[in-house]
Amino acid sequence: MPRPSVPRRPVVRTEFAVVGAGITGLSVAWALARRGREVAVLDRAAVGHHAGGSHGACRIFRLGYDDPGYVGLAARARGLWGELEEACGERLLHPTPQLTFGPKLAQVRAAMLAAGAACEMLPAAEAMARYPGVSVTGEVLVEPASAVIAADRALAALAALAAPAALAAPAAPAAPADRAGPAGGIGAGVPVTSLADDGRRVVVGTTAGDVEARRVVVCAGPWTAGLLAAGGITVPGSATLEQVAYLAPAAAAAPGSASPASAVPAGSTVPAGSAVPARSAAAQQRGMPIFVHYGGEFAYGLPVPGSDRYKVGIHHGGPPVDPDRQDQAADPALGSRIERAARTFLPGFDPRPVRVERCVYDNSPDADFIVDRIGNVVIGCGTSGHGFKFGPLLGEWLAALAADAAGQRDRRRAAPSSGAIPGHQRRFGLGRFSAGNPPRAGGRPTGSA
Ligand SMILES: Cc1cc2nc3c(=O)[nH]c(=O)nc-3n(C[C@H](O)[C@H](O)[C@H](O)COP(=O)(O)OP(=O)(O)OC[C@H]3O[C@@H](n4cnc5c(N)ncnc54)[C@H](O)[C@@H]3O)c2cc1C
Repeated sequence: MPRPSVPRRPVVRTEFAVVGAGITGLSVAWALARRGREVAVLDRAAVGHHAGGSHGACRIFRLGYDDPGYVGLAARARGLWGELEEACGERLLHPTPQLTFGPKLAQVRAAMLAAGAACEMLPAAEAMARYPGVSVTGEVLVEPASAVIAADRALAALAALAAPAALAAPAAPAAPADRAGPAGGIGAGVPVTSLADDGRRVVVGTTAGDVEARRVVVCAGPWTAGLLAAGGITVPGSATLEQVAYLAPAAAAAPGSASPASAVPAGSTVPAGSAVPARSAAAQQRGMPIFVHYGGEFAYGLPVPGSDRYKVGIHHGGPPVDPDRQDQAADPALGSRIERAARTFLPGFDPRPVRVERCVYDNSPDADFIVDRIGNVVIGCGTSGHGFKFGPLLGEWLAALAADAAGQRDRRRAAPSSGAIPGHQRRFGLGRFSAGNPPRAGGRPTGSA
């Protein structure tokens, strides 16, 4: 009697599989692809989709952290951004000076000086004469090496560079509107449902079939912990739903119809919709710098490349969220805090947003990234709202961990046994959360957006 045929799940075999096509996962894929390695990238949705942490037009690139370690890492990341720009033939970082001010100014300055990064301290009046678009008090640190990252262009460039060397991922099932079918080696619309590491290879279960890989790199943002928990790997963290506002220039008024906004002291407000005189409005909107109010409420802002819009937000301002149940509607309470920051710091812009965007943060308990490898599973997550600028560096680290046999950490051991990320295992490895090795004093967050 013929045996009943058992339907076989389709299997794709590859050297490396990457879960997550945000900035971290795509950077890993590019780092592996440019080493000539075979890689499949799997994401439950299309590159740049709105439920992840990497979507939107722009992000801040800066060296200015209150910790010389991060200043040095940002400088290393800057070099890799240059290599990416060269590889894709497109400018992705738009040099834009940055004004840093606020309660942690002295720590940022000290960290930058310790790391040998260029910066200049100015009294507020001088800073505002140079950059009339930002209203400040006290002292201001001017950082000349900052830039606005064209974030959406960076994702597209990485996806295009990674795909030709990547392996076809399993075909996506019927794709909902926010999901695309597989593009090159990027399987979009392919949720990963399980991971099983048998010590020789990892079977990555997806809704479209299995992928067998020698190593898997999990860069699934705030979904990482849930995905790894089933395989017995604990990754601590929490998600928050943040909000940013896009502002348009304030309307220019007829001369004499309003008091000059530049005369409004920081801390007081420009009435909503108030017009500013034509000459000062134009000056305030031209050559807008990035700003970071470091410490305190942590407001930040940046000009949107190729547009007259200005993006503003509050770092770690949003409420906790289940990443699978995000309500993308504008949060009025957060909106009024952002509007207050706009009135305080941005005299040339109408503080009422023309558009609001929500975006999820993937927070580690101490705001440091999580970069580690357990068996054949490499983990890159916990970017805590400041990971975009480090994308290419995280990609290099994670690709090296995936490709390096010596980097393996035995999953049964409590403490990390390797220096797989030279000099950084203690800070970024999962071992820092082990019993007897509590998170660093000060908790989170050290950096801003
Ligand atoms: C409002 C806002 C402003 C920010 N500003 C800055 C800034 O100015 N400068 C800066 O450096 N950083 C900034 N950041 C932080 C930065 O954007 C993030 O740290 C970074 O984008 C996180 O990227 P990621 O690839 O790790 O995660 P994500 O972009 O979230 O990608 C994870 C991916 O994994 C996929 N995935 C999850 N689970 C599965 C599964 N089971 N199967 C398949 N796929 C799965 C998801 O669909 C998602 O696409 C900001 C973040 C936000 C939200």
